[in-house]
Amino acid sequence: MRLSRYYIPTLKEDPADAEVVSHRLLMRAGMIRKLTSGIYVYLPNGLRAIEKVGQIVREEMNRAGAIEISMPMVQPADLWEETGRWGYYGKELLRMKDRHGREYCLGPTHEEVITDLVRGEVRSYKQLPINLYQIQTKFRDEVRPRFGLMRGREFIMKDAYSFDADEAGAEKSYTGMYEAYSNAFKRIGLVFRAVQADSGAIGGDFSHEFMVLADTGEDTIAVCQDAGCGFAANLEKAKVAGSGGQCPAQTSVAAPEEVATPGAHTVDEVCAFLKVESSAIAKTLLFSVDGEPVAALVRGDRELNDVKLRNIIGGNDIEMASPEQVKEWSSAPVGFAGPVELKVKRIFADLELQRDQGWVVGANKGDAHLKNVHLGRDVQVEAFADLRVITESDPCPECGKAISFTKGIEVGHVFKLGTKYSKAMNATFLDENGKDKFMVMGCYGIGVSRIVASAIEQNNDEHGAVFPPSIAPFEACLISLGGKDQAVTDKAEELYAELLAEGIDILYDDRNERPGVKFADADLSGYPMQLVLGGKGLKNGIIEAKDRKTGERIELPLDGFLGAFKMWRASIWQAWGLAL
Ligand code: ATP
Ligand code: MG
Repeated sequence: MRLSRYYIPTLKEDPADAEVVSHRLLMRAGMIRKLTSGIYVYLPNGLRAIEKVGQIVREEMNRAGAIEISMPMVQPADLWEETGRWGYYGKELLRMKDRHGREYCLGPTHEEVITDLVRGEVRSYKQLPINLYQIQTKFRDEVRPRFGLMRGREFIMKDAYSFDADEAGAEKSYTGMYEAYSNAFKRIGLVFRAVQADSGAIGGDFSHEFMVLADTGEDTIAVCQDAGCGFAANLEKAKVAGSGGQCPAQTSVAAPEEVATPGAHTVDEVCAFLKVESSAIAKTLLFSVDGEPVAALVRGDRELNDVKLRNIIGGNDIEMASPEQVKEWSSAPVGFAGPVELKVKRIFADLELQRDQGWVVGANKGDAHLKNVHLGRDVQVEAFADLRVITESDPCPECGKAISFTKGIEVGHVFKLGTKYSKAMNATFLDENGKDKFMVMGCYGIGVSRIVASAIEQNNDEHGAVFPPSIAPFEACLISLGGKDQAVTDKAEELYAELLAEGIDILYDDRNERPGVKFADADLSGYPMQLVLGGKGLKNGIIEAKDRKTGERIELPLDGFLGAFKMWRASIWQAWGLAL
């Protein structure tokens, strides 16, 4: 490609709304432009990177036996009613009506559509297993679209869906996808890790996320320090080990006693006033679940894990109770709710509170708390469960050794769905004995556009992006410093033609610009290889070759250029740990 005839509108200034480096560089390198919140135009270089990611993913999916199709983006509401997700999916689902008043949504994921397709076509076990995928634009009306391509509302996803005759088959499909994902992320050149994950709105019983390790990640991962154990989980999912206990009805704890705590709303204020540790307090958090009140209790020094809570209580629309609801349900101002005589039927408590211990709790009246509250005796608890967020001082839930936290960006997610969707939508087949059975499903997503941003988060410097050669918009950039020197221009044209003929993905900077501008643009755009031809080099029979990642420059001979270039290119790919 000739840059003089191409479209890479680089920017000198950082965009004001860019909080993370990938967003800033994608904008500055002229790869994307914002249309409106969370919705972007992919400019030529952005599109090239996205398509290269897509192609690697496609090749690995095909190799694993998945088959490409393309499903509509617009999906009828009735399918979502069948699975109950028209309600459950909530506000992330962008809904609309057609001229007849029929309801639709823009697809955030395609379990309903694919299950509808397959139930209509697959009748016999002989047609199973089958795994269908697509690479397509998705829409999710995210609460906080941000970080450019990392969390858009419109984004590109690869989604695959497997259908098997039994659990053993489904397990094989899952493993096959897990391996295909590992291969694809390795080929892209990402530093990643697979972790145990929550299944979220997709549902099902088992899942892993693939996380690109980066400080700007929105997810936190708990990782066992013992490499032999291998435990790694998203914080949302990570279970807390061994905090359950006994909650005998006969207790050694004295009866509840009201104590005055004027003006003490927060855990810290209550601790200071009563001179107790925050671990002596059981805090009561109120939620509205589809409009009904639910209370959740965790120790004062712990954080409630809302994903764990949601998985236990069920329901569609879960929100923190408003101050008005808190007043209505606890009969007290915010900060004084407690479990004793609360006007809430459903009370859940963290396992850590299941002890023969008296807790300090809100008294459900202003400026007062209760001491000596024993949850098994004084409160009707619906369930004690693992409700809190794991901390770095908790032991590994699998081996008991130490854990540590790191940040990650989720780029892929594999789910075992079981028969959740096939039962809801009656997707059956006839087995060998002519008996009707539900298909066993799996689903598998990769954030294709998010990967481009993640690659930049992992690879950048003060000059710009540094792309792995596998997904760079162009693998190499040939910079001609010819200017008015026709001999240099002629030679650059000749090298460009040679590289093109060899099938190298080359951008030729033939613009009539100052060398400094050309160098800066090439650095900003992150092409992994730069070739610079000037008058002096031509005279000496050499061209300068720069490795964008290390900044290392070498000279390649013009005589026998192609052979020398190919050797250098192979060394660059190798240094990235990538196979050419
Ligand atoms: P997240 O927790 O980041 O919202 P998710 O669990 O909702 O992700 P999935 O439903 O598993 O995501 O979707 C599959 C993949 O699509 C994710 O692994 C991620 O890479 C990508 N993805 C999801 N939401 C977005 C988004 N808003 N913008 C860009 N990519 C996304
Ligand atoms: Mg999401």
